Amino acid sequence: MAKVEVLKIGTLPQPTEAALAGAFAVRDANEEAGAVRAIARGTGHAPIGAALLGRMPQLEIIANFGVGYDGIDLAAAAARGIVVTNTPDVLTEEVADTALGLILMTVRGLGAAERYLRAGRWASEGAFPLSATLRDRRVGIAGLGRIGLALARRLDAMSVPVVYHARHPRADVPYSYFADLHAMAVDVDTLVAILPGGEATRNAIDAHILKALGANGVLINIGRGSTVDEAALIAALKGGTIRAAGLDVFANEPQVPAELMTMDNVVLLPHVGSASVYTRAAMGQLMLDNLTSWFTNGRPLTPVPETPFPPTRG
Ligand code: NDP
Repeated sequence: MAKVEVLKIGTLPQPTEAALAGAFAVRDANEEAGAVRAIARGTGHAPIGAALLGRMPQLEIIANFGVGYDGIDLAAAAARGIVVTNTPDVLTEEVADTALGLILMTVRGLGAAERYLRAGRWASEGAFPLSATLRDRRVGIAGLGRIGLALARRLDAMSVPVVYHARHPRADVPYSYFADLHAMAVDVDTLVAILPGGEATRNAIDAHILKALGANGVLINIGRGSTVDEAALIAALKGGTIRAAGLDVFANEPQVPAELMTMDNVVLLPHVGSASVYTRAAMGQLMLDNLTSWFTNGRPLTPVPETPFPPTRG
């Protein structure tokens, strides 16, 4: 029997690419797509809009490598009965580890301290200046989902108080809930954004929120770059409206504003939240398992809420 045709977009780990090519007939974006029945969407966050979907009348499933799936036109997919899957849970602990590392690097100035040593300044100028601390901080997590909760548990172990903001309060957590992001920013000095991208969260962290965070404020973003107004953040860092920022994600990746590059009170990571060999392999396997399950049993394993399975009639 002929192999099912799968369009690959973006980059996948090599073992995932090899397994995909073993099980499916893999096409790339420049090839004829009329017989394509699935999309495997790797890193790169390439948009999948109505025009691309229109080239694939036989498309049944979009398997996204990663938990965030902003950039896929979900309404267009749902309207055609195309199921979208992502890779939740298998990356949660890795991203929470990275978030904790980014918080520590930013609050304690560890990146700047390392640059100081490497530049020979420890020997020539003496001890690195004293840093801020987590010991007197209060963390507000914007987006207490899978990753946010895994981070909150890490902070619990470090005796750092946690509160959170989301659209809905959770009944299963001991942390205080803020329905309003601004009210939470007033209450805390460390804001950690672990929000999904998309229009609902675009620029949710703007000048107003940064002002509320205050002069001792630290912003950490490990969710999506689009959730922070980057121009407002740069102005807030320059003007001392907040103290520091730690960023794993940016509005226009892989481009990072030149002004951020020059600031010593900013920690910049190239979107490495889940980027270990171990976790990327697990994500690749779950993406493949979704495709295999769909084409053998007719069921996706981890459909996103916007394209539920079995489909609900609206
Ligand atoms: P979840 O879906 O489990 O959590 C999302 C959280 O955000 C929930 O608490 C949700 O609560 C809240 N939320 C969603 N929309 C809004 C909104 N409009 N306003 C306020 N809160 C909102 O996702 P994960 O924890 O698994 O992942 C979170 C995000 O992290 C992903 O969407 C992805 O973009 C990003 N990510 C980044 C990685 C990196 O490498 N840096 C790696 C993996 C993920 P409620 O529904 O109640 O609002």
